[in-house]
Amino acid sequence: MANGIDADVLLRRMGGYATRERRRVLELLARSPQPVTAKKLHTTMGQNACDLATIHRTLNHLQKEGMVRSISFDGTSRWFDLVDQGRHHHHMFCTSCNQIEDIPLCRIDDFMDYAASRKGFQISSHVLELFGLCRSCRKKETHRRERVL
Ligand SMILES: [Zn+2]
Ligand SMILES: [Zn+2]
Repeated sequence: MANGIDADVLLRRMGGYATRERRRVLELLARSPQPVTAKKLHTTMGQNACDLATIHRTLNHLQKEGMVRSISFDGTSRWFDLVDQGRHHHHMFCTSCNQIEDIPLCRIDDFMDYAASRKGFQISSHVLELFGLCRSCRKKETHRRERVL
């Protein structure tokens, strides 16, 4: 959920470290409504793209700086999302078509209570992603089953 994030603000925070690649990657991430893979960023950049290795290096750097986080929805690829403190959110990942949708809610009070109150655990962050089938894949799945029967 990057809508509304001002890439300029992030770049200013970077000061002199905002190289052309970092600037470009941050801008694309800010414009993308969903987390994206490095490969997708590379294709989106088009002809004047830097090479994929540079994009990977840039993303790793931005992640180390805490501006970007990566999520491995399928255990092999990594998807990148801007870290925006004001827009904490979760995702639904369709395991059939790889579509990602945001969940702008966070109702995990019971988990927090358990960890903090009962276990005395100091929570610094959390991750929660839902896996399954999106609406259109569910429809396809139903049709497929009906044809088989
Ligand atoms: Zn799907
Ligand atoms: Zn949350």
